[in-house]
Amino acid sequence: MTIERSEILKRAERLREEINYHNFLYYVLDQPIISDADYDALMRELKEIENKYPETVTPDSPTQRIGAPPSEKFAGIPHSIPMLSLDDAFSQEEVLEFDQRGRRLLQTDEELEYIVEPKIDGLAVELVYENGTFVLGSTRGDGYTGEDVTANLRTIRSIPLRLMDRYLSLPGRLEVRGEVFINKDSFKLLNRRRMEEGEPFFANPRNAAAGSLRQLDPNITAGRLLDIFCYGIGAVRDFDFGTQWQALLSLKKWGLRVNPMVEKLRGIHGAIQYHQRINRKREELDYEIDGIVIKVNDIELQRRLGIKAKSPRWALAYKFEAAQAVTRIIAIQLSVGRTGAVTPVAIMEPVKVGGVVVSRATLHNEDEIRRKDVRIGDWIIIRRAGDVIPEVIRPLPERRSGEEQVFVMPTTCPVCGSRLRRKSGEAAWRCPNPECFPRLVKQLTHFAGKGAMDIDGLGPKVAEQLISAGLVRSIADLYYIKLSDLLSLDRFAEKSARNLLSAIEASKNTTLARFFYALGIRHVGDVTAQLLVDHFGSIKALMDAGEEELKKVEGIGPEVASSIRSWFGDNDNIELVKVIFDAGIRFKDLEETKVLPLKDKTFVFTGGLSSLSREEAKDLVRGLGGQIASTVGRRTDYVVVGKDSGSKLQRAVELGIPILGEKEFLEFINKNHSGKSGKPDLLL
Ligand code: NAD
Repeated sequence: MTIERSEILKRAERLREEINYHNFLYYVLDQPIISDADYDALMRELKEIENKYPETVTPDSPTQRIGAPPSEKFAGIPHSIPMLSLDDAFSQEEVLEFDQRGRRLLQTDEELEYIVEPKIDGLAVELVYENGTFVLGSTRGDGYTGEDVTANLRTIRSIPLRLMDRYLSLPGRLEVRGEVFINKDSFKLLNRRRMEEGEPFFANPRNAAAGSLRQLDPNITAGRLLDIFCYGIGAVRDFDFGTQWQALLSLKKWGLRVNPMVEKLRGIHGAIQYHQRINRKREELDYEIDGIVIKVNDIELQRRLGIKAKSPRWALAYKFEAAQAVTRIIAIQLSVGRTGAVTPVAIMEPVKVGGVVVSRATLHNEDEIRRKDVRIGDWIIIRRAGDVIPEVIRPLPERRSGEEQVFVMPTTCPVCGSRLRRKSGEAAWRCPNPECFPRLVKQLTHFAGKGAMDIDGLGPKVAEQLISAGLVRSIADLYYIKLSDLLSLDRFAEKSARNLLSAIEASKNTTLARFFYALGIRHVGDVTAQLLVDHFGSIKALMDAGEEELKKVEGIGPEVASSIRSWFGDNDNIELVKVIFDAGIRFKDLEETKVLPLKDKTFVFTGGLSSLSREEAKDLVRGLGGQIASTVGRRTDYVVVGKDSGSKLQRAVELGIPILGEKEFLEFINKNHSGKSGKPDLLL
């Protein structure tokens, strides 16, 4: 063996090891530590070596494998037909080549018919229906064996537990494949919360969806608003589909969710244009996509083309370029969040990436900075994919001048000087001082926010003013501000001061769920707050509930329970609640033992309403015992449509769910308020 060859083979071995390690972090832990672009580069290098020396390809090489073996946390589920990965292409040339290769193998000059659809950035699952009933659901795993996540999949509202047979008879057994994903809003919210709490970010929506679905506690999955698009079929008994298109139509008829943007076209050029069209639409979609998938439509041709080690020859992922840019870190600043978590943020020379100028990127936490070896003054590569917060991928050490400084995490809060604390098992350092300025500003604005106490006019600027002037040292102080206090502040004229005071006064008339959410307890979002209030019915019962009792509430996991317990375990917090109560707060939801005419009814809103805000409309429904969901599914009872309604309306029509216009909705609510509960007049 020549020296060169032995060096190359050693390199291949190292690459295999490294890629396997990244596969583990990505697929098993849902916490990748390198960017997809870096990962793809390692993979490409390994493939090149293996192409040159095919005899050296080992069966356990990552080029021959899909994903990673299932985690031992879950029972393994074998797939009757392997769930493969997809070859990917980044350029038109590669797409044209894919088409030419297909036609060459099929020995045809004719244009092929293709099915094109967005490639959702989520994770693949298989749903098994026996005689129309959902019996088993699994992840892709290593393609041959997946993880049993049936209980978690059951919490996804768009997965029917029972298929419809109204339009098409049901097969005895049906394996459906689809992509579970998290929508952009939930992804942002989840990461924002993680940032405030100093937990590691989910690098992309795929990891967020996978992290949520692969929870041991299905209640956590249920709280994360996952959704699904079905795109294919595994094994099926008593049924034959001639084409992919027909398969998709059948899925729809059985009540499964199929992406409405799927198209059938002849010729590869149509697919290339579709890629451009979808790329332009990308920002408007409420979920992340990372490209399109092109599939040969005719199943017989698919069979003839066959599969390779880890991907079919009849399908291709034509991906979008993730926007990357190079810039410099000028400084690393620390930002103190609502719960006291201190997060390092890179302040960069402004740079355009993915069409937006950015100058800040999160560095997550101290460990992350050390691992990536990011230094102040470094040239760095940043990435922004879709709506994802810009992320520092890595520094460029080759461009270092020697002047760069290693970042040292301070031991005290950069704002108030308190000694920072770090709990074992947590990545975040926290400032323990509840009066620390930025923390209090965020707490106050959270408290006053729309879904919380809804105090109009109390944004970050005013919060800063109130705290700087010493008028507010805790959220309770808000209720003791006087007109003369406000008039002594800059920019407060009599009118604005009175407006703020009356907004504060009006906020006393609230609901317990809003109040509980407004307190800003870690892990207690608005949905959790509502669940707890529904269960305990009074603040006293909530304060007294032990961890075990909290955990028994459907939808409450151990993390949430322990966070609530430790919040109420702090005497300062109990005192805070008491002081707010003394200010005369009233909970409309607890005052009368009401008849709840909309109990067990679920509403979904789409589009803007003209005579009231979305929050007000939701409160009306909740006030009558109804529930709000964000996606339309089979368990939705009514869909309320306003102006510029989106795909939810279409979905409601597809599922035959009653639709109310704004007028019909308000009449319906009025009727129920006056005790004449009854059916609404429907718009559709
Ligand atoms: P892939 O994500 O590129 O493509 C295959 C997957 O696409 C399918 O399994 C399915 O989940 C999904 N998909 C979405 N919409 C679809 C549709 N309409 N029809 C069919 N499938 C659809 O391949 P992969 O093997 O899952 O993962 C490779 C990707 O993961 C690469 O982008 C790679 O960069 C990344 N990765 C990154 C790391 C890291 O450490 N950063 C590690 C491993 C993998």
